Amino acid sequence: MNTNPYPWQLDSWNTLNNQIELTRMPHALMLTGPSGIGKRDFALALARRLLCHSPREGAACGECRQCLLFAAGSHPDFMLLEPEQEGKVIKIDDIRALSEFAIKTASQGGWRVMVLCPAEAMNVNASNAFLKTLEEPGRQVLLILVSHQPGAVLPTIRSRCRILPMAQPGEELTRQWLSDNTSHGADIPMALSQAGGRPLLALRLLETGLLDQLRRFETGLRDLEEGALSALEVAKIFQELPPRDLIDWFMNHVYGLLRSPQSLDSAWSRRLFRFNDRLIQVKQRLLSTTNPNLQLLWEEVLMDWKSVVDWPHQKTGLAHRG
Ligand SMILES: [Zn+2]
Repeated sequence: MNTNPYPWQLDSWNTLNNQIELTRMPHALMLTGPSGIGKRDFALALARRLLCHSPREGAACGECRQCLLFAAGSHPDFMLLEPEQEGKVIKIDDIRALSEFAIKTASQGGWRVMVLCPAEAMNVNASNAFLKTLEEPGRQVLLILVSHQPGAVLPTIRSRCRILPMAQPGEELTRQWLSDNTSHGADIPMALSQAGGRPLLALRLLETGLLDQLRRFETGLRDLEEGALSALEVAKIFQELPPRDLIDWFMNHVYGLLRSPQSLDSAWSRRLFRFNDRLIQVKQRLLSTTNPNLQLLWEEVLMDWKSVVDWPHQKTGLAHRG
């Protein structure tokens, strides 16, 4: 587990450290920025730093009893609240547990820290319940909210937090950091391009074999578009790929076409937007269904896509994708 912030987070880290030393910490922080840049890790490092009883040079020591408890995931004054599964909601019962936790006395005689990630995953009831905790914070309590989409968080929650926009590293620093942290150096450019420059997301692509799956997606789609394989055949390949990632790749593919000069043709871009709406629906269906029939689902989506790309006007459009 990360004890220290990432190199691109040092400014935020130093500012907060000064505030800790001057006992000027707010009781609620909201870390904002796109996903995949290390906000959650920053929140955890900050929690660990606050709970450590003998921090060194502004970071947790990693050796004291507090640090060991934290590393074991059993620090009694720390709580991490996340949806059961990525993309699912945080429910009111979870918030109730957090509210109870917030009013307890620190068992280790220091801070109590709660991390909620991502804040926009709270449904309306959960948000309202959370607001009460935010309005009546206990002493030496820090609530750290992580948000990839702060606009989707209740304004009344946002206004009660100190907002801390988190930095995204520049290209050179990202490349350097990735090559220090992966053995798949040759794939860094592809991962970075796919991750839109976001370092943690790029690292995940590199380390989980997702890039190979992304290549299978791209090849399958090209074979469909060129008529080398049928929708049914490509669906067979697609059903072996992680469905939610596949939807994101497909959306990226459509966005790429929308950015091409041919999308100035409004009839063509309307078709692309309509198809993108369809992908959004499929994504929601995937989130709400436990065992979707992926073969059938991809077959339908791919037949749709085939009819979009076979439409006469866009033949030149596809040639421009890059
Ligand atoms: Zn420590």
